[in-house]
Amino acid sequence: MTGLSGSGKTTIGIALENELHKNGLLTQILDGDIIREGINKELGFSDDDRKENIRRIAEVTKLFVNCGIITICCFVSPTEEIRNLAKTIIGEKDFVEVFVNASLEVCEQRDVKGLYAKARKGEIKDFTGINAPYQAPLHPAIEIKTNELNVEESVKLILDHLKLNN
Ligand code: ADP
Repeated sequence: MTGLSGSGKTTIGIALENELHKNGLLTQILDGDIIREGINKELGFSDDDRKENIRRIAEVTKLFVNCGIITICCFVSPTEEIRNLAKTIIGEKDFVEVFVNASLEVCEQRDVKGLYAKARKGEIKDFTGINAPYQAPLHPAIEIKTNELNVEESVKLILDHLKLNN
């Protein structure tokens, strides 16, 4: 899942995981905040570090996918180049690009973690949407407009795409 901070990736990821569990499916969520505190804790937000962040996540994802585990990746992944890198590593047939789309205004209003306020004050540099670019995906497999849909409806779009709704 790609989208601005606060667009809804983690919220949808957790709700999606709950639904997949009801279908008896194995899942693993990989989330930016957690990964950046753990295996990628030395990485920052420069272009090179963002690329390395996603490269490692994609390699880890491939290992999970090889075990038959549906891996839900919640990362801003702000450029076409970075997302293509992930797709290449994971393999096209196992990669579903979900664009969690909420406008910058909506995300900033939500400001779930207070990061937009900090970025506006100049306390965070390279913050996507404020002082670092976000390239919206051109052809996502799924686009979820989280200022129009609630979480349940958002999850349903993904389940429908995966043909997992009874
Ligand atoms: P991200 O992981 O993209 O940074 P979060 O999931 O942490 O975003 O935060 C998204 C916020 O938006 C949450 O407070 C969530 O309750 C809210 N929200 C409102 N509508 C939706 C929706 N349809 N899907 C997901 N989140 C939503």
